[in-house]
Amino acid sequence: MGFPGSWKKYTVMIIILIVLVIIAGGVSYFRNGRVKFLLWDRKGIYSQQEFMMDTIVTVKIADTKSRSEPALTETFHEMRRWADRLDRFKPTSEISRINHSQGKPVKVTAEVIYLLEQAREYSRLSKQAFDPTIAPLVELWGFGQEKQRVPEDEEIKQLLVKTDYRRLILDPGENSVLLPAGMSLDLGGAAKGFVVDQGIKKLLALGIKSAYINAGGTIRVIGNKAPGQCWSIGIRKPQIAEEGKGSDYYNNYIVKLNQGSLATSGDYERYFIEEGVRYSHLLDPRTGYPARELKSATIYAEQALLADILSTAVFVLGWRQGQELINNLPGIEGFLVRDGSVWSSEGFTDLTK
Ligand code: ADP
Ligand code: MG
Repeated sequence: MGFPGSWKKYTVMIIILIVLVIIAGGVSYFRNGRVKFLLWDRKGIYSQQEFMMDTIVTVKIADTKSRSEPALTETFHEMRRWADRLDRFKPTSEISRINHSQGKPVKVTAEVIYLLEQAREYSRLSKQAFDPTIAPLVELWGFGQEKQRVPEDEEIKQLLVKTDYRRLILDPGENSVLLPAGMSLDLGGAAKGFVVDQGIKKLLALGIKSAYINAGGTIRVIGNKAPGQCWSIGIRKPQIAEEGKGSDYYNNYIVKLNQGSLATSGDYERYFIEEGVRYSHLLDPRTGYPARELKSATIYAEQALLADILSTAVFVLGWRQGQELINNLPGIEGFLVRDGSVWSSEGFTDLTK
C-alpha cells in the first residue's frame, strides 16, 4: 500500500517545482520585461556569423540571451540593408543608380551622402591614395570578377582620367549626387566600415552596451567584453594562409579596446599571380597599378568608416608617407608591415598595453 503515499510525495514535489518556476519567471520578468527563466537567461557572449559584402561578418554581444538574440537578428538585418544599398553589382542599389546616371543628379539617403563626403575628404587628405571613383580601374584589372589580368599601359592611361574624386559633386542640402558620365564609384574600400558603424548604431539604439562587430577584418567594439576586460584583437601576420595552417598573429601587438575601431588592408588575401608576379587588389589611383611597398596597414580610429578608408589609403601611400599621414591626423593610430619590419605609432603601442 505504498502507492498513495508516493503519489502524495510526487504531487508535493511537482507543486514545489511549479512554484519555483513561477518565481524564477517572475524575477526575470521584472528584470527584462519578458517572461523568461533565470537559468535560460544568463549573461554571456552571444554571437552570429553571416556572409555579406564578399566576406564573413561576425557580431558578438555580451549580455543576456533574451536581449542578445533578437538584437543579433535586428543588427544583421540593418547591416544587410546598408550593404545592399552600397553594392555596385546590385542594379537597384544607391551606388548603381549613381553609376548609371549618365551625369544626371541622383537622390540618395543622407547616410550615403555622409559616406561620400568622408570618402572625398580622405581622398583629399591622402593626396588621392584613396579614391572612391576607382571602379573603372578595378574593373579593368578584373578584381572581383572571373577574369583577372595585367592590362596594357595604354588601357590604364585611358582610365586614369576617369578616376578623380574631385569630379564627384555632392549636394547635402538636396541629398543629391552628381557623377560625370563615364565615371563610376567603387566603395569596396569603405563599405565594410560604414556597415559596421551602422550595425553599432543599431546595437546602441537597442540598449546593448557591450558588443563587437567584425566584417572581414574591419572591427568596431563598444564596452567591455566582461567586467574589467577589454575585447582583444590580434593582427594577422601578412602571410598567405596555407592549407591546414592556422594564421599567425603579432603576439606583442594584441590591441585591447572598449571603444573604437580597427581595420587592416593587406595584399595577402585578394590578389592574382601572372608570370610569377603577385598583383593585389589595392590600386594606386594615381598610377593605376597595385601598390607594392607594404604587406599590410592597420588603422585605429573611433569610427570603423575612417579606419577602413585610412587602411586602404595608408596601404597605398606606403611606409614613409603612410606614417606621416597617421602622425598628422588627430585620433588616428596605425601599425604598418613591410618586408622584414613593422612600425607602430606611439598611440597604437599604447593600445596594446
Ligand atoms: P579588403 O577588401 O581586403 O578588406 P580594403 O578595405 O582596403 O581591403 O578595400 C579594397 C577594395 O577597395 C578593393 O577591392 C577595391 O574595390 C577598392 N579599392 C582598391 N584600391 C582602392 C583605392 N586606392 N581607393 C579606394 N578604393 C580602392
Ligand atoms: Mg579599407
